[in-house]
Amino acid sequence: MFKALVLNKQDEAVTAAVEELDEARLPEGDVTIAVEYSTLNYKDGLIITNKAPLVRTYPHVPGIDFAGRVLDSAHPDWRPGDAVVLTGWGVGERHWGGYAQRARVKGDWLVPLPEGWRTQHAMAVGTAGFTAMLAVVALENHGLEPGAGEVLVTGAAGGVGSVAVALLAKLGHQVTASTGRAASHAYLRALGASNILDRAELAQPSPRPLESERFAGCIDAVGGTTLARVLGQMKYRCSVAAVGLAGGSELHATVVPFLLRGVNLLGIDSVYQPIAPRRAAWQRLARDLDLVKLEGMMVEAGLQDLPRLAGEILQGRVQGRMVVDPNR
Ligand code: NDP
Repeated sequence: MFKALVLNKQDEAVTAAVEELDEARLPEGDVTIAVEYSTLNYKDGLIITNKAPLVRTYPHVPGIDFAGRVLDSAHPDWRPGDAVVLTGWGVGERHWGGYAQRARVKGDWLVPLPEGWRTQHAMAVGTAGFTAMLAVVALENHGLEPGAGEVLVTGAAGGVGSVAVALLAKLGHQVTASTGRAASHAYLRALGASNILDRAELAQPSPRPLESERFAGCIDAVGGTTLARVLGQMKYRCSVAAVGLAGGSELHATVVPFLLRGVNLLGIDSVYQPIAPRRAAWQRLARDLDLVKLEGMMVEAGLQDLPRLAGEILQGRVQGRMVVDPNR
């Protein structure tokens, strides 16, 4: 038997409760894992509160990522005792996820825990931090170098934003953090932001398609009007990595920044990221993320806290990274 957060659906209502389940109920897969940590991501909030139709079959165990130790493996890459990390692949959406003491998945979906890290560190990073790393790599591949100028991070006090700020600062970039939370300014400066921008300044559409050139790069977790506004403030041939939609999924913009300034809009997907860049991103995280800063953005919760926290993350009230310990 193992403990899990289970979502049940009756009529149109979804309820969440911690239950004891039999291991025989675990889904198909060639590796069984003792989960040590999971995390709370924005998408988990959508799934637990049923705000987006991401789960088709109930009862369902959510949790789009986890880290733990292999208990049992029929996969050639993994042996009992190996420390492994999983993000994406539809786990926690179409496949049972990490809000449980046990998980069973395909061995092809796993990556090794970075050397010198605890499983708790991997989940302090989680899907949000892994995605921030993918965004940094995408900006670098499109020419971003330290010294190029201000790099903007929107939704900065959230999960993706916090890790993006810490990574960019460690890599020597001048980071401008856009946030709506006055109480998070000191936190963002401690992560390495040299400038704070009130998110209200990006929240209204601009009457002009081009504004003054300001940013050498941007990691955008907000989308909507914010993204449209940022496109018009990018420097010549610079890039925006579009990661999220915390402020809206619609994009009302003109193509003028692309045509007259050669601005690039780069899409970032973490879920089906192929295995080679996936492993490379975790290696980069191990090299470029300051573990002291990572520990500073980490808050811990248990399975029973998740129904409440799911609502809070959707309201933008969770700062940094919420690590979930299913064994506490
Ligand atoms: P968080 O809730 O931790 O962070 C989102 C942040 O966005 C908030 O902290 C807040 O930052 C800001 N925000 C929230 N609501 C609004 C609003 N209405 N207008 C403007 N800003 C707002 O979520 P995550 O960091 O986990 O995820 C961020 C986004 O990235 C989500 O949309 C998520 O779905 C997406 N995502 C995408 C992935 C991919 O593969 N592409 C993977 C992971 C996440 P502040 O308080 O600083 O203003």
